[in-house]
Amino acid sequence: MNLIDVPQQLVTGHNFVGGEKTASVTGRTLAVESPYTGTTVGEVPRSSKEDVEAAVQAASRAAESWALVPLKERTQILFRFRDLVYKHIDTISNLVSLEAGKTFDEAKAGVAKGLEVVEFALSLQNLDDGGALEVSRGVSCEVRREPLGVVAGITPFNFPAMVPMWMYPCAITLGNAFILKPSEKVPLTACFCADLLLEAGLPNGVFSVINGDREAVEGLIDHPDVKAVAFVGSSPVARAVYARAAASGKRSLSLGGAKNHLLVVPDADPEITIPGVVDSFTGCAGQRCMAASLMVAVGDVDHLIDGIVERASQIQLGTGMGAIIDRASTERLTNAVQKAKEDGVKVRVDGREASAPAGYENGFWFGPSVLDGADPSMECASKELFGPIITIVRVDTLEEALALEKNSPYGNATSVFTTSGTVACRVAEEATNGMIGVNIGVPVPREPFSFGGTKDSRFGCGDITGKAGVEFWSHLKKITSKWALQSDANWMS
Ligand code: NAD
Repeated sequence: MNLIDVPQQLVTGHNFVGGEKTASVTGRTLAVESPYTGTTVGEVPRSSKEDVEAAVQAASRAAESWALVPLKERTQILFRFRDLVYKHIDTISNLVSLEAGKTFDEAKAGVAKGLEVVEFALSLQNLDDGGALEVSRGVSCEVRREPLGVVAGITPFNFPAMVPMWMYPCAITLGNAFILKPSEKVPLTACFCADLLLEAGLPNGVFSVINGDREAVEGLIDHPDVKAVAFVGSSPVARAVYARAAASGKRSLSLGGAKNHLLVVPDADPEITIPGVVDSFTGCAGQRCMAASLMVAVGDVDHLIDGIVERASQIQLGTGMGAIIDRASTERLTNAVQKAKEDGVKVRVDGREASAPAGYENGFWFGPSVLDGADPSMECASKELFGPIITIVRVDTLEEALALEKNSPYGNATSVFTTSGTVACRVAEEATNGMIGVNIGVPVPREPFSFGGTKDSRFGCGDITGKAGVEFWSHLKKITSKWALQSDANWMS
């Protein structure tokens, strides 16, 4: 069965610098592997600090003139980009599947979610009207939203189209020149979207792509002309990126990893809870920062756990769930299940036993896994595993469940499955994570609401999308004027 279209030839991605497609001055490249086939399907430049320098210089020139283009004119270009993404959505989704391992439907849903941010950015032309007020007799204060200049975004592998779109539509619409450093595991989607931005008419240098790894990231963070750095990825790297950027006085927001808690109480509706939990930890093969990872079973919920086990064990790899990003990750997941078993946890569904889809046996596959009866201190209950594994910890009371949630170092999402409004309200009030779900396994806020966690899931202040994203990618200039020069009024009047 043909799950994705695998191109016959290597897909070559480029850097985009000053509107030109370029290679690294070093001539180095990085290979892109497909999780479906386990083979190399593309390559991109592995950029050096010299490549970063060239991109920042071109972006700096572009930023000066782009800032002078009125918001409504900038927006028109983004409207054309939106149309182009819709026109090519199947091609983009296939690229996402090819390099990230998602099913085609998941890939397409990710692109659609990214487009919501594009549409939010397009609405700014009508919404962001600044503000002015007479603050004292004859004295008015006005705020103007201004771009920062050259800004950078560094993104992870798991949403090759969407996570960059969390950043650049707002950053560009607000008048910045944006440099993207996509994950080296999934750079081809970013290169395709860069082509579409150029085709839409974006001036050269307003959007750049610098491919590569840590060297390129550090080059961007350290460059004095890069004014803001947004990062999405694992917590240790998020912390390091934030610290490095902040140390040189840059604006920075770094979103990190997660260990999302699902609290399930006995009155939960099985028809909502069972698919809600399973879809949350198996969707995108569990490689979502909003995926369920720890289920806190409060009291007797065995009937729900039995349903979760049954549903998860029916999922077929390839059609029902996509692949894991690379071989190292499948090995990490295999070891995690083995370790849990050795620690005395009951492995009720074992992802190691799942069969790869026919014709894709060399790809990176790992099936849904349900680990029942873990102690909160165990690795499977406390570490981010980033795969289709749900660990179940059993407690007697909601207080204990909330205490576990509070103790987790991560702070992305907490969901409760219940039919009780009182329980739902209590969880919404007392949970410490940044995004709370009620009877929703993946509580991603939609535009214009903002996305962002707390604790080790976010370093910096504010959120990445929605209204908070607008604040991150701009600053407010305050202008205080006195034109009515009454004789009875002075500055302090
Ligand atoms: P990662 O941290 O390995 O890589 C993210 C980016 O950082 C990549 O572009 C990579 O090239 C770069 N990078 C890697 N190591 C670096 C280093 N030492 N110094 C500087 N840059 C470095 O993350 P990943 O494996 O690509 O993505 C998965 C992780 O991202 C998971 O932990 C997941 O929870 C998290 N994530 C978080 C969110 C969120 O919104 N909080 C969203 C998506 C993914």
